[in-house]
Amino acid sequence: MNSPFPNALCCRTTIQTACRRAWSVFLVCLLGGPLILSAQVSLDRLRAARLNGLDYIELSAWATACQMKAVGRAGNDELLLTNQWARLRLAFNSRKTEVNGVLVWLSYPVLSLNKTAYISKTDLATTLQPILFPARANPPPKVRVIALDPGHGGKDPGNLEGTKYEKYYNLMLAEEVRRLLIARGLRVVMTRDRDKFVSLEDRPALARQKRANVFVSLHFNASSRPNSGVRGVEIYCVTPAGALSTADHGEGIPEGRCTGNRHDARNILLAYQVQKSMVRSLGMEDLGIRRARWMVLRRADMPAILVEAGYMDDPQDARRIYSAAHRKQMAQAIVDGLLAYKRLIER
Ligand SMILES: [Zn+2]
Repeated sequence: MNSPFPNALCCRTTIQTACRRAWSVFLVCLLGGPLILSAQVSLDRLRAARLNGLDYIELSAWATACQMKAVGRAGNDELLLTNQWARLRLAFNSRKTEVNGVLVWLSYPVLSLNKTAYISKTDLATTLQPILFPARANPPPKVRVIALDPGHGGKDPGNLEGTKYEKYYNLMLAEEVRRLLIARGLRVVMTRDRDKFVSLEDRPALARQKRANVFVSLHFNASSRPNSGVRGVEIYCVTPAGALSTADHGEGIPEGRCTGNRHDARNILLAYQVQKSMVRSLGMEDLGIRRARWMVLRRADMPAILVEAGYMDDPQDARRIYSAAHRKQMAQAIVDGLLAYKRLIER
């Protein structure tokens, strides 16, 4: 079978590399994160091509720079890249990617041309690299104040399934998350703590005013089609400037680069850590990390995500959503993801 990786991938086992690996293994053990290298790969130095009007990078060149190996195709249309710390599953002509078993939607499909695999530079820069190599800052930022945003409220009920209003369940979940975060010594700001209407503009504005370091909007989903069979957890963060959203409904008037894009790298890292925690500990279906330019995400002046913690119209998810005990578990998983993010960026 022809490999889309024209060049053999190899790792030099110099003492320097061994030391760096040992340090990375130590960090992975310490942080439970998917770190590979301590620094991001400079994309401008890699072999590139202009495809479909976009900058694409040769996947093999990037993998080599990341000390990853192609371990062959998982199927005819899939590629696996792996090293000691990370496992990526990429599919040709698809935007779906798995990072250590967690589904991440890319902005553009992975392409194969003349037996060479390419991935868009935008996706490497704004999705894969920030997840795999969380950037360090000096001094490291602190996560002390979390803004929780229970979706809808008052005259806006959100999804309505039978007699169940989404707005009430969003608030109950937020109250559980709040309780757990306070128990861990964090300050919590709520955009609403009762059944009242708060405009979409006011929600991130309130978080900014209270100097929140993270913004988490909490929702439950419902499919537009009856008996769709769709169930599971998905987390949204703002679409990178100029890139394609995974969900483009309700985006309003398109803006260019928005406030939320200042935090592109941390948005996706936050989304990844919370999605990973929820999918692994709750056993719910993984619908992936997705992109949208929704008001609360594009106006957020701090890393921000919108959690859709299950489908109210799916019997399996609904049982969890309407159960106080299951909501406690969901809240714990969200908090564990937030704490994992906090540890990574504060290191
Ligand atoms: Zn909602």
